Amino acid sequence: MNTEFDVIKKYFTFPALRDDVELAVGDDCAIVSVPENKKLLLTTDTLISGVHFPQNTPAKDIAYKAIMVNLSDLAAMGATPAWLSLAISLPEINEVWLTEFSTQFSALLSQYNISLVGGDTTKGHLSITIQAMGFCEQGNILRRDKAQPGDKVYVSGSIGDAAIGLHAIVNELADNALLPCIQRLNRPQARINFAAQLSTCSQCAIDISDGLVADLGHVLHASGCGAQIRLDDIPLSLAARYYFDTYCHQKTDWPILLTRGDDYELCFTVNEKNQSAVEALAKRYDLVISCIGEVTDSTELSFLSADGEVFDFEQNGFQHF
Ligand code: ADP
Ligand code: MG
Repeated sequence: MNTEFDVIKKYFTFPALRDDVELAVGDDCAIVSVPENKKLLLTTDTLISGVHFPQNTPAKDIAYKAIMVNLSDLAAMGATPAWLSLAISLPEINEVWLTEFSTQFSALLSQYNISLVGGDTTKGHLSITIQAMGFCEQGNILRRDKAQPGDKVYVSGSIGDAAIGLHAIVNELADNALLPCIQRLNRPQARINFAAQLSTCSQCAIDISDGLVADLGHVLHASGCGAQIRLDDIPLSLAARYYFDTYCHQKTDWPILLTRGDDYELCFTVNEKNQSAVEALAKRYDLVISCIGEVTDSTELSFLSADGEVFDFEQNGFQHF
């Protein structure tokens, strides 16, 4: 085990899963077939050690997150994943680490019926870049630029847990009650199955990767609209409430919840007439969704507290530069 070819053969060559893959790992390119009546959607995300995950994150969590952040992008547009490629840079060939990474990687791909069709293996600081590819019928694609004034704004799941999880790790808060937040940081859940049906009730979605303020901001900018969001309707998990009760004198820290990111929940807009349909759809997929406000015909995004005060966020969301 001393060349990248040994690594590729042992850790990144998985059994064939799909019959739309003619040629996977091994040649200069992969060969795949796209169904005739569907569009191919492609997305790429990189995870760099120390930037996207703390340096001591277990290999299996890195594998999980690297896949999920990409599947979350596909979910945001309503696509069903089919294939991925993996470009990985490793500081060394550590077989214990590679076994753990590869076992989780393969398990998650089997669970979602996704084939690893190729990649690149290099030596360097730990960094993982995945390109995910999926299909969607033309009419079922969700986009950022389709919000309409009057639409209701929804989010899935709960918001801000991952940011609290990261805060707990960085500040070494040894508190078991915050483990669900660390779990949300390391094991985001792309809302793939729900999102694949969402076009029956919505045309507009984004996944929340950089924080709700920034990502809803992208939707509104692309759609030329504004929105009014009710802070009190933003869904918090029990662990998040516990964090504020215990560490913040029962005061909700909105910036940590809404501007740090790593939620990988969906934010989507729904015409009033489709509200009961979208709520039924969520129930069918056992997903909690919450209506948090409305799209307006202004260009402003405002967050209102229960007493009608506007909350001002100094920084919108995570930015690399
Ligand atoms: P090339 O030199 O032609 O770019 P490589 O030597 O980088 O090819 O890779 C050999 C084969 O292994 C290719 O099919 C490539 O897609 C695949 N591959 C390389 N690294 C990975 C990886 N980490 N995961 C999956 N496939 C990989
Ligand atoms: Mg080549």
